[in-house]
Order: sequence, then structure tokens, then C-alpha cells
Amino acid sequence: MSFTKQKQNLINILLDQIEIFGDDLFIPKNELLSTKQNKTYSSDNQVLKISEKEENFLFESGNDFWSNSNDLNELYSKINTCTKCGLHKNRTHFVFGSGNPNADVMVIGEGPGAEEDKQGLPFVGRAGMLLTDILKAIKFDRDEVYIANIVKCRPPDNRTPFQEEMDTCLPYLKKQIELIQPKLILCLGLTAAKGLLGKKDSLASLRGKIFNYNNSIKVMVTFHPAALLRNPNWKRDCWKDVQEFRKLYDEIISKLN
Ligand code: SF4
Repeated sequence: MSFTKQKQNLINILLDQIEIFGDDLFIPKNELLSTKQNKTYSSDNQVLKISEKEENFLFESGNDFWSNSNDLNELYSKINTCTKCGLHKNRTHFVFGSGNPNADVMVIGEGPGAEEDKQGLPFVGRAGMLLTDILKAIKFDRDEVYIANIVKCRPPDNRTPFQEEMDTCLPYLKKQIELIQPKLILCLGLTAAKGLLGKKDSLASLRGKIFNYNNSIKVMVTFHPAALLRNPNWKRDCWKDVQEFRKLYDEIISKLN
């Protein structure tokens, strides 16, 4: 393995650790507060700003020309050439989302990786295969759910999307949620949870809890499959999370029938 690849692997592992356990062990908070460049793992200041902004538009899709789309096809046709943020510059394909347009369950990840960018579909690489297995383990077919990401264009070198990029792209995902009207959402990884819920906690503190989106849709959070590929010892905890998610799904559906 080349030195650059080893270095990248090490960086990814450290970033995973920060995502799961928070950044206190790695960087003193006062240093983070003065590090304006640190956009990926935000300081408390930044998160506060995000939360305020989130509160303002959390459940609105905005007044753009696409926001009155009546179905996913119409929405796709209106936004697939989007150039609202810098991520459009390097994309091969815009990755809208895929799956059942009437799904009871939505699965939300961070953003497209290399394979997703190449094919124009979410979760089709190694992490995607693992996601398919995870869903199968809790008795969901991949085609039964709807899968989308916080950002629809691949960030360079698979970096975490910047807050501005997430803020710019998020209204599209919110419109997809509005059109699909799922009963439950599973967020994969901290970026998805932060983007959708506006939370500033670590993944460890978000896991195992049930959140409400728009006062009607239950949301749970677990690991991103890419993190599980790098840290297979987290699979056991992910398994607990998804079993709880399935239990919640069964409860909600049985009340409706
Ligand atoms: S990431 Fe989202 S907002 Fe940015 S260019 Fe792509 S579709 Fe547009």
C-alpha cells in the first residue's frame, strides 16, 4: 500500500473516531473555536449557527421553481443540472436517490462516493453492498425503501461535505421527504444526522434515540456502512441499532393496520 493511501486510511480512521465519540479527545475546544478553516468537524460556534439556520427552514422547501414539484420525476427533471454549490464542478453524475417512491422507510446517507458518482445511483459501491445486507438482515428489500443523501454531488476525495454545501442541497432532500412521506427515516452516520436533525452531538450520543422530523416522521441514527468497513468491530452496535429500528417500524405499521 502506498504511503498516500496509508495516510488517507489513517485520516479516515481518526475521522471515524471523532464522528462516533466527539472531538474532545483529539482537539481542545478552544483551539477548534479559533480554527475558522475547520468546516468539516465544526466548533460549537459553527454548530450553533447551523442550528439557528436549521430552525428557520427545517421544514420548508423554499420558494424555488422546483419546490412545487408534484412527484419525484418532476423534481428530478428540475434539479438534476443544479449548480448551486461548488460540488457540481467535479461531478460525473448528479445522484438524486433511488427506490420506492411510496416507501415507508427512507435511508439517508452523507453524499455520493466514487462509484455512486460514476453510476448516478446512491450506495452502489462496497458500502452500498453492505447497506443492502444490513437491510436484508432486518427484512427490508432494498427496492422497498428509498435511499438518498444529504448532498447530491460527490465531494472531492470523498471528504465530508462542508456546511454551506449541505445547507444548499438540503432543501432538495426535504422536498423528497415531503413527496415520499415515509413513516421512518434511518440516518447513516453523523453527517446525515446533523444535516437532517440539526444536532451537534456525537454519533455515540445520537444512537439508540428516536427523533421526530416535522413532528410526524420518526428518525433513528446508526453508523455509515463505510465506517463499518473501516471498523468492523462496530458492526455489533449497528446490528443493535437496526434491530431497534425494525422494532419501531413494526410498532408503527401495526398501529396503522
Ligand atoms: S451538491 Fe446539491 S446543491 Fe450542490 S450542486 Fe449538487 S445538487 Fe446542487
